[in-house]
Amino acid sequence: MARKFFVGGNWKCNGTTEEVKKIVTILNEAEVPSEDVVEVVVSPPFVFLPLVKNLLRSDFHVAAQNCWVRKGGAFTGEVSAEMLVNLGIPWVILGHSERRALLNESNDFVGDKVAYALSQGLKVIACIGETLEQRESGSTMAVVAAQTKAIADKIFNWDNIVLAYEPVWAIGTGKVATPAQAQEVHFELRKWLKDNVSAEVAASTRIIYGGSVNGANCKELAAQPDVDGFLVGGASLKLEFVDIIKSAT
Ligand code: PEP
Repeated sequence: MARKFFVGGNWKCNGTTEEVKKIVTILNEAEVPSEDVVEVVVSPPFVFLPLVKNLLRSDFHVAAQNCWVRKGGAFTGEVSAEMLVNLGIPWVILGHSERRALLNESNDFVGDKVAYALSQGLKVIACIGETLEQRESGSTMAVVAAQTKAIADKIFNWDNIVLAYEPVWAIGTGKVATPAQAQEVHFELRKWLKDNVSAEVAASTRIIYGGSVNGANCKELAAQPDVDGFLVGGASLKLEFVDIIKSAT
């Protein structure tokens, strides 16, 4: 089954209204392959979601960077999946390594979040990835399999999930995984899905790579058979994001 190339831009905790408008203008004026070829989703901070959704070209979509694990209520500072749906936000990024590390989000908690967000009709970019220490000790596959299992145990339908493999040592460091390193983990993840979920899910689920992707390294990574796109941090705030989108072809 053909998997449509997916490019996500994670703007993290960056931007002013003016800066956000500038990025949206660049994206709106960019000439990129059609929506049939590449799915583009940008993820501004919560406060800019309505602005970006209103200004952004209609063939690109928006994602929140997080949402609460269950129905909203007395959870000060949180934003619920229901609120995102109410605003017409189709996607949410969950399990980003910055939240796992800095806010102690466990595999179990991320699994619950993914299941709840899907149950409310959101589409999910679910992030997984090993630290440098885990890679060097040879436990990369065990770590990403455990992270994936915590999600797989709680969901029944993979249609609305994109799995983002983001090695922690490559995020924001300028130290990108080599195409061979990315391909190796993506291949193993697809095999894990085949063995533990189903052959159909393994064939249809997009597994995207994230970690220091830029305009210069995206082509070679995109050429790997099991790399179905990217989740981009730093470079998604720059003009080169357009080149990354173009690497779909
Ligand atoms: C990310 O935060 O999801 C990410 C991949 O960041 P960067 O591209 O800056 O490494």
